[in-house]
Amino acid sequence: MTRYTPDLLAADAEEFTAIRRDIHRHPETAFEETRTAQIVADKLTSWGIKIHRGLATTGVVGTLQGNRKGQKTIGLRADMDALHLQEKNDFEHVSTIPNKMHACGHDGHTTMLLGAAKQLAAKPDFAGTVHFIFQPAEEGHGGARVMIEEGLFDKFDCDAVYGMHNMPGFPMGHFAIRTGAMLAASDSWEVTFKGTGGHGAMPDRGTDPTFPAAQFMVAIQGIVGRNVAPAQAAVLSVGHIHAGTPGSPNVIPSEVLIKGTARSFAPDVRALLERRLAEVAAGIAQAAGCTAVSKYHRRYPALVNAPEQTALAVEAAAMTVGRENVEANTAPLAGAEDFAFMLEKKPGAYIMIGNGGTGEGGCQNVHSPLYDFSDEIITTGAAYWMNIVQLELGDAKQ
Ligand SMILES: [Zn+2]
Ligand SMILES: [Zn+2]
Repeated sequence: MTRYTPDLLAADAEEFTAIRRDIHRHPETAFEETRTAQIVADKLTSWGIKIHRGLATTGVVGTLQGNRKGQKTIGLRADMDALHLQEKNDFEHVSTIPNKMHACGHDGHTTMLLGAAKQLAAKPDFAGTVHFIFQPAEEGHGGARVMIEEGLFDKFDCDAVYGMHNMPGFPMGHFAIRTGAMLAASDSWEVTFKGTGGHGAMPDRGTDPTFPAAQFMVAIQGIVGRNVAPAQAAVLSVGHIHAGTPGSPNVIPSEVLIKGTARSFAPDVRALLERRLAEVAAGIAQAAGCTAVSKYHRRYPALVNAPEQTALAVEAAAMTVGRENVEANTAPLAGAEDFAFMLEKKPGAYIMIGNGGTGEGGCQNVHSPLYDFSDEIITTGAAYWMNIVQLELGDAKQ
């Protein structure tokens, strides 16, 4: 079995650095990744890979059969979208589009998967089928969910799916993963407290929704502290408050709107947050003679890695960078990722690849206006993808 290491792909480094920087210069946001999708489609086609376009508007799926007979099929996924953010870097490949930026490294994710596709197409020494899944709209718009709804796994059935994200603050040439929940479910919620409102000097003549609203913002931390089991994790944060008008500080408003985010890792904790937010809002509102209308929106589910595929991903990472550079039991993060929708449908594993340390001269965190994907890890990520194919469809599995 071939073991792929980044140095085996060194000859491709310049070509793929140029592709990555070109995509970085031309960031495109949710469902508008037409230029990026065209680059992906053109490259895959030029390497002889069959493509399908149009799932979730701009999605591209490349399909490559191995040169040996095999029934097994796997999906390798990269996201293509950028963020609404003004880039503050001053290097030559800085974004040319105002208020759009590849600040999460999806330019690099797309490039790493292209790098693997090129090599695998040149030497498809495996048994079975690989689907290269390039998805739009990871950032908050659930492009993965839309691709699935539009028939991704009906058209391209996969026995297993794999995803990867770069991680600033973690050295280049390192990987981190864990079995089970690795990223959180990300939900949003809103509560509107309603009362009569009235004159600020005479609160006794009406009901004041700001009073229960203030208590509610304190009380929800009691949901995390008193209702969620100590060994479980959850986050509730308030992100928006609206009531009254700035020019009328002597008017008690009749409504207060509070919006926030809810993060959890286990389905029962997620259900508990949904239920308790509404109960606490209703109870506090009633005590103040007001009412509360609660809404809870389930957005991204928790990202849950399957044991078998996670073990295989650890092996693939160890083949790529050496076992000592693979953290196989990393701590869960409260961030979210829409690859979780794919992992709800198919067993698979999602891994973090180090993008280099932060701080002086190092890389900034994702979503920072000074972030950049590290071109040095393109070959590392591409080699990892190739090792996944080796382990899933190569000699060892025959
Ligand atoms: Zn992001
Ligand atoms: Zn991202």
